[in-house]
Parts: sequence; C-alpha cells; structure tokens
Amino acid sequence: MNEQTKNDRAGWLRGPQAECSVLPSETKSPWRLVLLGAPGVGKGTQADLLHERLGACHLSTGDVFRAMGSQDSCEQTPAMKAALEHMRRGALVPDSTVWELVRERSGCIRCGGGFILDGFPRTLAQAEALKGHMESESLALSAVVNYELPLAEIVTRLSGRRTCEKCKSVFHVTRRPPREEGMCDHCGERLLQREDDRPQSIAVRLEAYERSTAPLIQFYSHLGLLVSVLAAGSPNEICDNTITALDARTSSEDRLH
Ligand code: AMP
Repeated sequence: MNEQTKNDRAGWLRGPQAECSVLPSETKSPWRLVLLGAPGVGKGTQADLLHERLGACHLSTGDVFRAMGSQDSCEQTPAMKAALEHMRRGALVPDSTVWELVRERSGCIRCGGGFILDGFPRTLAQAEALKGHMESESLALSAVVNYELPLAEIVTRLSGRRTCEKCKSVFHVTRRPPREEGMCDHCGERLLQREDDRPQSIAVRLEAYERSTAPLIQFYSHLGLLVSVLAAGSPNEICDNTITALDARTSSEDRLH
C-alpha cells in the first residue's frame, strides 16, 4: 500500500464532520476485528500491519484522544479535558465519554472497508455497547485477536518506548534505537517518551488492564470469537501468525456452515 492509497483516517481521528482522503475499497466480507492485549504488547503496530494486509482501517481510541490533546486548549470541551487528564495518569477514560466518541464515529463501524479496533473496547460496558450497536446495524465481528506476552516483557517494552513528536514513528531505546539518539530516523524531529509511558503511569495502566480489560478475554471467548496470538518475535512475524490464526478460524467457521 503506497502513501496515495493510504487512508488518513480523518473520519475517525477528527470526527464525522471530516472526510477520509481515501475510502477503503468495499469488499464482500470486510474484516471487522477487535485487538485485545495489555498496553505495550504492540496492538498499534499490528493494527497498522494488518491494515496493510487486510485493507480495513486502524481505529484507535487512544489516537483520537492524542489528536484531541494536540488541539488548542480553547477548542477542547470540558469532557475532553477531563478525558485527557485521565489519560495522562494512565487511568481509563470514563465509559460514557469513550462510548460517545465511538458512537459519533459509527460511520467508521459501518464502513464497507471494515475496521481493526485497537484499544476499544476496554471494559465490559464498552464491549456490551459495541455488541448492541453492531447488532442493531446487523453487523458482526469477524474475530477478536488477543495478543499475549509475559508481564516483565511488557514493562520493558513500555518503559523504553520513544515516539516521534511529529510523525509519531515509534522507537525503543535498546530494541529499536534510532540512528541518532533522541532523533527520529524518518523526519529528524525529537523523540519523546509518552506521558503515560512513565513508570507511575505504566503501573496504573497495567492495573486498569488487569481489572477492567482482561475480563473481555472470557467475554469474547464465550461468544466464540477469540483468537490468541503470542506477541513475541518481529512485528512481521507476529502479523504473519495473526493472519494464519485468522485464516484457521475462518476455515473452521466455513466447515461449520
Ligand atoms: P492507548 O493508546 O490505547 O494505550 O490509549 C491511551 C490512553 O487513552 C489509555 O491509557 C486511556 O487513558 C485512554 N483510552 C484509550 N482508549 C480507551 C478506552 N477504550 N477506554 C478508556 N480509556 C481509553
């Protein structure tokens, strides 16, 4: 997929009043995926790779909050400001705020190109809201991919992560260091540590994951949608394993029908 055919996800990142530069091509059976996994397992990287391979858009609620955070503070509503404060601390944004944001963008959920949800749903209430909404639109999830990784590895990944303040490319201080320390290889801008990748916030995020998000594994397993993938190896290897697991699930579904 080249830059011209890459969707800028404007309808998702900026809301329903914005139009996407390139609409994904509609297919007979678009992929509608949810990615689960603790913070730091690499859901965002996998969502980008899966977007390239499957065509469906990468829809991250975290990206929407970060886009709002870079707006002028006078453009931010009180609910947005409160959400950004939760985010800085590593805490979950309240369900009502998150659901309002997703419901406003329901065109992306209906989009004929499909979607890859990353970071949503994160609580049972959000999962129920998505399920009810999709049922009312006669849409179904294709699968829910759960990325698994030991806790110690997650902490190493999060604490060493550095992100370019301009192009948002992601590096790691030891695992994927930039050519010049603190500078982005792609655009030369400064690399920063995300506020919520600092040690105090990491602890809050992991606790929120265990308490609120991990129960979704059982929720989706009961619905027969769960596919587990080990998030170890290179990003491309993990993506290959994801596609293999999704193909295996799709062919066993075909055999059942
Ligand atoms: P992420 O980029 O997915 O790690 O999200 C960054 C932060 O945004 C999280 O730590 C939360 O503060 C907030 N956030 C993103 N998605 C959600 C969600 N579905 N529910 C609650 N908070 C969220």
